[in-house]
Amino acid sequence: MMFLSRIIAVGKHSASARKLAVFSIGTGLAGLASFYGGKEDVAEAKSASLLEWLKEVGVNRSYFEGGKNPLKKIYYGPVLHSLKFGEVTKVEKALLGVDDQGKIAFFLDTDAADVPFDLSLVENEVQDDITVVSLGRRFLIPGFVDGHAHAPQHAFTGTGLDLPLLQWLMKYTFPAESKFADVDHAREVYTKAVRSHLKNGSTTVSYFATIHVEASKELARIVEEMGQRAYVGKVNMDRNSPDFYIEGTQESLQGTLEFVEFIKSMNNPLVTPVITPRFVPSCTGALMHGLGLIARGFDLPIQSHMSEMVPECEWVHSLHPDCVNYSAVYDKYGLFTEKTYMAHCVHCDSAERNFVLNKGVGIVHCPLSNFSLASGICNVREWVEEGHKVGLGTDVSGGYSPSMLSAIRHARIASIEIARNQGHEGEKVMDKALTFDELFYLATLGGAQVLGLSDKIGNFDVGKEFDALVIDTEIEDGPIHAFKSDSVRGRFEKFLALGDDRNIVEVHVCGRQCL
Ligand SMILES: [Zn+2]
Repeated sequence: MMFLSRIIAVGKHSASARKLAVFSIGTGLAGLASFYGGKEDVAEAKSASLLEWLKEVGVNRSYFEGGKNPLKKIYYGPVLHSLKFGEVTKVEKALLGVDDQGKIAFFLDTDAADVPFDLSLVENEVQDDITVVSLGRRFLIPGFVDGHAHAPQHAFTGTGLDLPLLQWLMKYTFPAESKFADVDHAREVYTKAVRSHLKNGSTTVSYFATIHVEASKELARIVEEMGQRAYVGKVNMDRNSPDFYIEGTQESLQGTLEFVEFIKSMNNPLVTPVITPRFVPSCTGALMHGLGLIARGFDLPIQSHMSEMVPECEWVHSLHPDCVNYSAVYDKYGLFTEKTYMAHCVHCDSAERNFVLNKGVGIVHCPLSNFSLASGICNVREWVEEGHKVGLGTDVSGGYSPSMLSAIRHARIASIEIARNQGHEGEKVMDKALTFDELFYLATLGGAQVLGLSDKIGNFDVGKEFDALVIDTEIEDGPIHAFKSDSVRGRFEKFLALGDDRNIVEVHVCGRQCL
């Protein structure tokens, strides 16, 4: 159970000699449990810098006295994040500290405390290798978690939008992906793809690469160079694929082993290998069985597609008539574990959803792709209310935008259409549709849960890693018109509905600024 750090002011003395007791309850930060200040003097404090004040009252004193994890950065200003589905917590005057390991050292709501320091004096400064950032009109939100994207498809994103899934794969996708036998081509496309996802605020992405081992390694290297957090999968395909883009079963398994060992040898905690059978129709039982063994042997996550459109589900049933449904095929071959997450899941009936729930498999909703490829509309509220782990994905390039803001907006429209299709009208539709707050949760903490990363990222709980975006809604000639009368909450809403990468002025992953 995670708790929001909180600050409690205890005023037993006069205003000029007030003692502060600060309690921070989080994960792995015993040293931050309590602090005490004894020499506060309001007049003195008001003339001091924030850093001097922090040293004076001893907030996070260990960081200032050669503690194990020295403090590196302190943000002052508005912070918004999600602690539970449907709720966005806003702290207008937050002090958020990040240590040199990129972890959140403290997160204080200064409005909840009688802070003997004039916070209007906080300004940008660097002292003793600690940077203070006054956010001013800007605000912080957690980085987005894109649970499903195809990095090679960045090459043709925005084209070939005239066909449904199975025809689209054959005509556009497989020819484009086959070109990644050329590692130089891979480097060019992957560099642009990863930068595009980062620029759009996706601090974590779960990528499909292609069947090519060397190009898939290149994607992992580029992710590392750019500092993104990612799950990277070498794709597996040994049947129902064109001659120019198919592997032998053993070749596919050996290539996967080589790829997994390569990523392990990178020893980068931000880059994780993920077992990636393309989907059931393109993998034989022997291949899926072998991949299940590799996943179990290395304790790896597994990603794939499931129940995206009706003809695909019928095809899967004809290939595996012994299996009761799509899920049962993955399960038969050891690919349906608590570390599995499946994109789409548009056409699962209640029995299958229950099976997915019992297996602890997560789902990734990719609404733009579902609309664009005419696959169907997923009833996401139903999945959430049944207790499933649910995140959002762009599914580039079935979804033609790399932006999770686009995923949020299309998920909103999808949920309105679902409610209307259920016979609701007017206000009832709005009651049933997913709210922007609910979708913000799915795009951050929900996605982190799907990837098994909710103990590390997804919001600003103390002890988590600082994956964050600095948002400015007032950039010149930007997509948003903000006014002085706009509240922080109003600017946040405008960003979700109207913002784009121009408003994402900084991107941080594990405390390191990537953009
Ligand atoms: Zn996909």
